[in-house]
Amino acid sequence: MMDYFDKFLVAPDSKVDLGKVDPDFKDKHESHKSALPEIQAYSEKLGELQHLMYAENKRSLLICLQGRDAAGKDGTINHVLGAVNPQGCTVTGFKVPSKEEAAHDFLWRCHKAVPAKGQFAIFNRSHYEDVLVVRVHNLVPKKIWERRFDHINAFEELLHDNDTHILKFFLHISPDEELRRFKERIDDPARQWKISEADYAERPYWDAYTEAFEDALGKCSKKHAPWFVIPANHKWFRNLAISKILCEYLTALDMKYPEPTVNLEDIKKKYHQAEKTESELE
Ligand code: AMP
Ligand code: MG
Repeated sequence: MMDYFDKFLVAPDSKVDLGKVDPDFKDKHESHKSALPEIQAYSEKLGELQHLMYAENKRSLLICLQGRDAAGKDGTINHVLGAVNPQGCTVTGFKVPSKEEAAHDFLWRCHKAVPAKGQFAIFNRSHYEDVLVVRVHNLVPKKIWERRFDHINAFEELLHDNDTHILKFFLHISPDEELRRFKERIDDPARQWKISEADYAERPYWDAYTEAFEDALGKCSKKHAPWFVIPANHKWFRNLAISKILCEYLTALDMKYPEPTVNLEDIKKKYHQAEKTESELE
């Protein structure tokens, strides 16, 4: 069943209006506490599905996380990663491009970080920054960033053709919630280090970012690389929604453990018969 997958999916090639999505949405759940059993069940299920992908070693999963400052990208990674075996997963954060990165095309640094077969890869920010922050702050001319939607779609199609499954999540928070989270950081010694003036400096650009996100989501949500808008004012609901979508999607892949490469009966006879005799002798 593709319950949350369908509910939060951005229809391919559609016009997105983020104003129509309630960032406070929490479905039928009253509170974190009442949703906890479901959150835990999906977490466990996700761990099993990742193990299956790892064992199968045929395809991979790329998860892209985008959102404004304090939208919860780090928290999502903490939650999603908490459920999976670190051996089967990589996480890459994308910051202001380094000198070397800036000397290449914008997809170069992202292509290097896509998942190998059997692996999950999480992008904390992604190639989409090059049509978001870059657009909002005019870091390159419009005629350059405009072409990037096509480049991104072609890039993601290439990954898909190579059996990389792609799921992209936009964490949707309200301006008030962002400010509340900034304030919370100021008052929490364990999180004060995260505060930068740059975060506050981005707030006047809220609407410009909204427009950029809406364009990117609408132009680049494809059947093989869908975008989801996740109501993210409630952190627990965000975690539930993303884990559930991942589980729905990965379950539908109907992955199978590989057949053993040895004859199990022969192995048992050869190596375990003696053990039995020994224990019987005791
Ligand atoms: P943070 O995620 O808080 O560590 O911040 C990373 C910063 O790098 C954000 O302000 C991003 O907008 C910025 N960033 C990421 N990718 C790019 C890019 N391609 N060009 C310019 N700035 C970027
Ligand atoms: Mg930041």
